[in-house]
Amino acid sequence: MEITALEKLSLTCAACGRGYGLDELAWRCDGCGGVLDLAGFAPVVPPWSVIGQRRPTLWRYAEALPIDEPADITLGEGMTPLVTAPDLHGVLLKVDYLMPSGSFKDRGAVLLAALARRLGVPRMVADSSGNAGTAVAAYAARAGIPCEVYVPAAASAGKVAQLRAYGATVRQIPGSREDTAGAAAEAADRPGTFYASHVYHPFFLQGMKTYVFELWEQLGGRLPPILVLPVGNGTLVLGAYLGCRDLLDQGLITRLPQIVAVQAAGCAPLAQAFRDGQPGPAEIIGEPTVAEGIAIARPARGAQILAAVRDTGGVILTVTDDQVNAAHAALARAGLYVEPTAAACWAALRAGLIDTSLRPDGGPAAIAPLCGSGLKAKPPASSAD
Ligand SMILES: [Zn+2]
Repeated sequence: MEITALEKLSLTCAACGRGYGLDELAWRCDGCGGVLDLAGFAPVVPPWSVIGQRRPTLWRYAEALPIDEPADITLGEGMTPLVTAPDLHGVLLKVDYLMPSGSFKDRGAVLLAALARRLGVPRMVADSSGNAGTAVAAYAARAGIPCEVYVPAAASAGKVAQLRAYGATVRQIPGSREDTAGAAAEAADRPGTFYASHVYHPFFLQGMKTYVFELWEQLGGRLPPILVLPVGNGTLVLGAYLGCRDLLDQGLITRLPQIVAVQAAGCAPLAQAFRDGQPGPAEIIGEPTVAEGIAIARPARGAQILAAVRDTGGVILTVTDDQVNAAHAALARAGLYVEPTAAACWAALRAGLIDTSLRPDGGPAAIAPLCGSGLKAKPPASSAD
């Protein structure tokens, strides 16, 4: 089974086409500031008979990933459970908070750590409202690479404690989420620094693809008509879209599922652009929301997210904090203790914002992820019933 050689891969600016070697450690285009995509990679989803004989981790799809399994870095991430949703027939929830660091971001972080070590970098930098930072810190620790994580000063104490426990240097930045990203970008520009960015590095998106591969495998070789996904920086939307494209290109599914992406009403630049038919995110001033993990006012890959959702015939919706709080409480009463952000998709489903009547072959109408554990999050300010 041929695995892709790292030397064949490169990064290409999505805006101007300029190319970069992986070892140049570029994280955005020097020329035009555009985001970088992966080039030179032809993913292949392995045959069903091969996948089934492999260990239940995301590395069972090795040939569809741009780097080999790092045997001493992997923490067994992937192949999380799929469970029925409370009180809504035809909807399944993927329990992605049962990952080594407690969130779905481990899918991308393990690929970044594997790449960082292959490149032999002396240090990694990450920035995050929480989950991406903790995931990168966990795998940096596993890989033995010093890691610096920039977080907003308001990040939850649980997440900061987790970062410190992994041995990361935590930089708490006052101001907005964008101020944190700016401070991290400055640090990332220091020579020899690997910016392990869930937003900018395309390897992260390649890891997020495995969310869709697992659904496809868990449903016996198909996908539901609708994938409900949270969207802030869009790592899961873009990763899921790439994964669906891989499956479609190989004839393993016959059509793309609709991606229904969910934003918080107080910070919804993508939902607004979608409504207005605009190609890029709307200029907004974000308001505080309980769904802090998707409160991104200026998503760097916003145009790519909008194009992906439109290509699937999907839509971008918003939910209010009251809806998120109520959904969060309802999930917990059903035994699913997630962080408030992770309840956003469920909030849209239980509020009836998504049509779940279409169930081809008796399979599920829609699947949503439960992205992050409740154990490291601030409890909601007011717990709605
Ligand atoms: Zn460029």
